[in-house]
Amino acid sequence: MNLTQRDQAIIWHPYTQMQTAAPPLPIVRGEGALLYDEAGNTYIDAISSWWVNLHGHCHPHITQKITEQLNRLDHVIFAGFTHEPAVALAENLLQILPANQAKVFYSDNGSTAVEVALKMAMQYWQNLGQTKYKIIAFRDSYHGDTFGAMSVSSRSAFTQPFQQYLFDVLFIDVPVTGREAETVAQLKLLTEQEDIAAFIFEPLVLGTAGMVMYSPDILNQLMQICKEHQILTIADEVMTGFGRTGRNFACEYLSKQPDMVCLSKGLTGGVMALGVTTCAQAIFEAFLSTETNKTFFHGHSYTANPIACTAGIASYELLVQPQTQQNMQRIAAQHQQFKEKLNGHPSIKNIRQTGTILALEFNMGTTSYFNQIRNRLYNFALQHQVLLRPLGNIIYIFPPYCITEEQLNIVYGVIEKMSALLTENTDSAS
Ligand SMILES: *Cc1c(COP(=O)(O)O)cnc(C)c1O
Repeated sequence: MNLTQRDQAIIWHPYTQMQTAAPPLPIVRGEGALLYDEAGNTYIDAISSWWVNLHGHCHPHITQKITEQLNRLDHVIFAGFTHEPAVALAENLLQILPANQAKVFYSDNGSTAVEVALKMAMQYWQNLGQTKYKIIAFRDSYHGDTFGAMSVSSRSAFTQPFQQYLFDVLFIDVPVTGREAETVAQLKLLTEQEDIAAFIFEPLVLGTAGMVMYSPDILNQLMQICKEHQILTIADEVMTGFGRTGRNFACEYLSKQPDMVCLSKGLTGGVMALGVTTCAQAIFEAFLSTETNKTFFHGHSYTANPIACTAGIASYELLVQPQTQQNMQRIAAQHQQFKEKLNGHPSIKNIRQTGTILALEFNMGTTSYFNQIRNRLYNFALQHQVLLRPLGNIIYIFPPYCITEEQLNIVYGVIEKMSALLTENTDSAS
């Protein structure tokens, strides 16, 4: 049996309808922006392997650092103990996070980083003796797949089977251009309730919703309203963090500072699973007490794993290098040009960009056609040796910063071919 057959005998893949899905591609090696399959084909990883990879696969600096760490300390319990990688990574992160962030809490992934933030927010108010427990979120948001994270995410086919176990959340619309006033009005109306603990949001770009974008100005306004009504703000930077928006964090575009920040995905450069929730000093202080019940009772077996933290440090060192920052700007400039080139294309409904993220929405007919199109686009890209993963009729580029100008041009070329193909399709259909 080859690798694919062995996989198919026993493995259940994420977000995959196992009855109809194509056999998984066996990848044997990664280098830079390229993935190599068993047969020796290469694929440009234009989605950073599900939004995690920052500096390319198997970056020698990260590989070397974690190899050294593996020979020193693999793992140690993080209650009652500490270690250099956890402390050094936290010091690094606080250098580049919003200035009010003061404490770093480790977990394993993006969903747990969100769970931690939600639990911190709820218990914060409880510790202060106030009954505030409700959460506000954007209607189309995505914050993860565990129950709390699902609860604050968009109600969709993903969450439907669990509907009755999801806690109630107050949803407001995403304030996309032209709809800002409505969102402000919705939030203001909600603030008449006094039991709201926190507002959680994906700053500037909602990833899973289809790279939906909105402006820093309106987010500042929403955060200001929250501040006036003593509602904590939680910036979920799991996807936007570490340069994706053109700055280290989307929050850098804001004049307001969130009370908490959630990080994962790019945190380790896409090498190890790690989550971080940071908070302002006041949040932390509300848990200080001689009473046991004010303690934050949350932790995971692999909290602050030294190997993962070391990957985080190595990735941070690469991120702050001028070369990486230049690459980010170069990618953004290339995206901008491509966007201008495609503007007004008959098969494209909308094309938008924030920093290194470019998203393009194709004109589509009915929804059933939609799913077929999604699979066709996915396969079309793979056949052209590019890994793209459309969200319905939306295709996006979310590259590692090491992607070369030429590689990015290849990706654009494939998208242009798709657009041409879809124009023909629409013509023949009508
Ligand atoms: C991916 C994502 C999460 C969940 O992270 P996982 O590591 O997949 O659990 C949470 N929030 C946002 C904004 C994300 O994009």
